[in-house]
Amino acid sequence: MSNVRFDALKTAWAHKPQEVAKVQRASVIFSQNVFTREKMKEYIASNIVEELFDLMDNEKTLSRDIANSVAIGMKKWAMEQGATHYTHWFQPLTGGTAEKHDAFFDFSDNGTPLEKFSGSVLYQQEPDASSFPNGGIRNTFEARGYSAWDPSSPAFVIGDRLCIPTIFVAYTGEALDYKTPLLRSIMAVGKAATAVANYFDKNVKRVYTYLGTEQEFFLVDESLYNARPDLMMTGRTLMGHYSSKNQQLDDHYLGIIPERVLAFMTELEQEALKLGIPIKTRHNEVAPNQFELAPIYEEANLGSDHNQLLMSLMEQVAHHHQFRVLFHEKPFGGVNGSGKHCNWSLGTNTGVNLLAPGKNPYHNLQFVTFLVNVLMAVHRHNGLLKASIASATNAHRLGGHEAPPAIISVFLGTQINEALDQIEHADVDKGIIINAKKEMKLGVGNIPEILLDNTDRNRTSPFAFTGNRFEFRAVGSSANCGGAVLALNAAVAEQLNAFREEVDTLIANGEAKERALFAVIKRCLKECRDIRFDGNGYSEEWQQEAVKRGLDTEKSVPLMIDQYLKESTISMFGNTGVLNRAELESRCEVKWENYSLKLQIESRVFGDLVINHVLPAAKRYQSLLLEKVAHVKQVFDAEEAKSLNEQDCLLIRRIEGHASAIIAGVDKMTKLRVTANHIENQRERALAFHDTIVPIMEDIRKHVDELEMWIDDQLWTLPKYRELLFVH
Ligand code: ADP
Ligand code: MG
Repeated sequence: MSNVRFDALKTAWAHKPQEVAKVQRASVIFSQNVFTREKMKEYIASNIVEELFDLMDNEKTLSRDIANSVAIGMKKWAMEQGATHYTHWFQPLTGGTAEKHDAFFDFSDNGTPLEKFSGSVLYQQEPDASSFPNGGIRNTFEARGYSAWDPSSPAFVIGDRLCIPTIFVAYTGEALDYKTPLLRSIMAVGKAATAVANYFDKNVKRVYTYLGTEQEFFLVDESLYNARPDLMMTGRTLMGHYSSKNQQLDDHYLGIIPERVLAFMTELEQEALKLGIPIKTRHNEVAPNQFELAPIYEEANLGSDHNQLLMSLMEQVAHHHQFRVLFHEKPFGGVNGSGKHCNWSLGTNTGVNLLAPGKNPYHNLQFVTFLVNVLMAVHRHNGLLKASIASATNAHRLGGHEAPPAIISVFLGTQINEALDQIEHADVDKGIIINAKKEMKLGVGNIPEILLDNTDRNRTSPFAFTGNRFEFRAVGSSANCGGAVLALNAAVAEQLNAFREEVDTLIANGEAKERALFAVIKRCLKECRDIRFDGNGYSEEWQQEAVKRGLDTEKSVPLMIDQYLKESTISMFGNTGVLNRAELESRCEVKWENYSLKLQIESRVFGDLVINHVLPAAKRYQSLLLEKVAHVKQVFDAEEAKSLNEQDCLLIRRIEGHASAIIAGVDKMTKLRVTANHIENQRERALAFHDTIVPIMEDIRKHVDELEMWIDDQLWTLPKYRELLFVH
């Protein structure tokens, strides 16, 4: 009898590192497949290019005339790269990206075949979008969805198609994607931050949001992956006894990258560079077969697009190397999960990073101003920020068992904390003394030199200050980072606006600017003290402490999503123009629905696996044991047979115990699922899946994993953890 697992293992062991075609220098191939500004200058008439650059730089609206001229140049360039098709490339709420390819091919008026690409299709399209999730927006408003070009993200060619980054909105303008509100949030925070930066420098005309994503992922051999229906269908293992060796030796992190993986990464980097994705860092992560890639940070919109593009590229390139990429936040129990750290900062058109401490005191006052405003925003909206990263898959990484608690707090490091404490308690009239490395006596308005060397790292913090930026670590590896970044941007925008109003009021009442800034900073520091936490975020004490501090400690994803509909959230998103009430309501519907569907699929796949793979293996082994017991009885006298069969009889009973618990469990799970499926209300349904299906799946899994331990390895048909995690 053949065993799927052994066949898969044989194939996996035969996989060898792929030859990688000649590696080209990054500087040579960078942006080769992107319609960059240089190429625009070459392919588009000069007067049009100037107008185009002006609207790109100043967030102006594109006119159809310009679109026509741009389209001609873009088509010429794309065809020279071998493109035969074009597609709008957008980011629906399903996650991932969507494309619908159309050929340039067309007929002229007199019937001659030709290649055509007009401004109108560059400018706007109406994808057949009725099956994208919209949370009711397109039912209640209008059935149509539009995609429209986002000129701030350049077009690129992949294979035979020209991809045009677009937003995706309903006929009535409501956002149906991640990009639209992300762009709005970038504008909102840019505007609010510019006004505050102007207290320090009148030359600041624009503030940009920067984003650098660290993408974690697992690689699994393709043949083993194909022998695990749970990985194929849900992206994670729904069962599997933990491997005896996993990450306890810490021997994988930053270890030598296995040859076959390196070949994959090399090809991937080359392809990413050609698409203008500035890949910089690659390394082994903590868990076996877990890795990380990070590009150099970029403006947030581009950084977010590039992360989406990188993810699809990774899946594609992995195939060439007989690997599958797992983006799931927790593909394996017992080892680390994967995140997508979103490194976030604000920088001015004058080249100043507003979150970097500097050498001169005036600069540092600006730094503290922005730092404190971020703290305030995160404090006020900590529940929302958690909701922004909440999903059925990330739940296993945050708040699930063997995961850090789902509580948003900010790590600042000892030095910054001390400086902030001293500022908080300083007497504005007397001036302040701050003990940094050496004691410095400074007058009002002077913040000491805060050393850039903030090497103090805390890996347990979901939101950490890392010297010149914040690292939002709670974001899940499979997420569209737009979701988290837009919430952060909007919250910071709201806070900066409030801060400015307060300072302006003081100034209007005759206070000097610096004293006004100081006074408001001090007040804010008191108000948001509770969000600062440098201790062990994984500890039991922190969970209790966080409750005392009034931070959001909700563990259930469907309930976390409620945060989007709190009045303070609705007014924050509304006032900053990022999302209106209808959009928020629809997003929640989509999130709840998505949660239920993921759980529904998991529970079905799990039921199948258990019935079709696990129980048959258990029964087969049990029969073998029973046969042996019977034979022993035939050969030996009763007394001796009893002793010879003792262990096996125990094992037979043990298997029976687990098997019957599994059968009863699956039975119950199926009934609970049917009940949940019948609930109409999306929120209620998600809650039912969370409250009933999650725990029963965990219960059943325990028995399945036990069985895996007891059953003859030769009979087990599903690749085991040690194989999935260590074959490469
Ligand atoms: P670490 O593992 O130490 O966090 P990595 O090198 O893996 O660092 O990734 C850090 C990420 O942060 C990179 O994408 C990097 O470009 C980005 N980054 C660095 N400075 C900034 C900044 N000022 N704003 C946003 N992102 C930044
Ligand atoms: Mg890193």
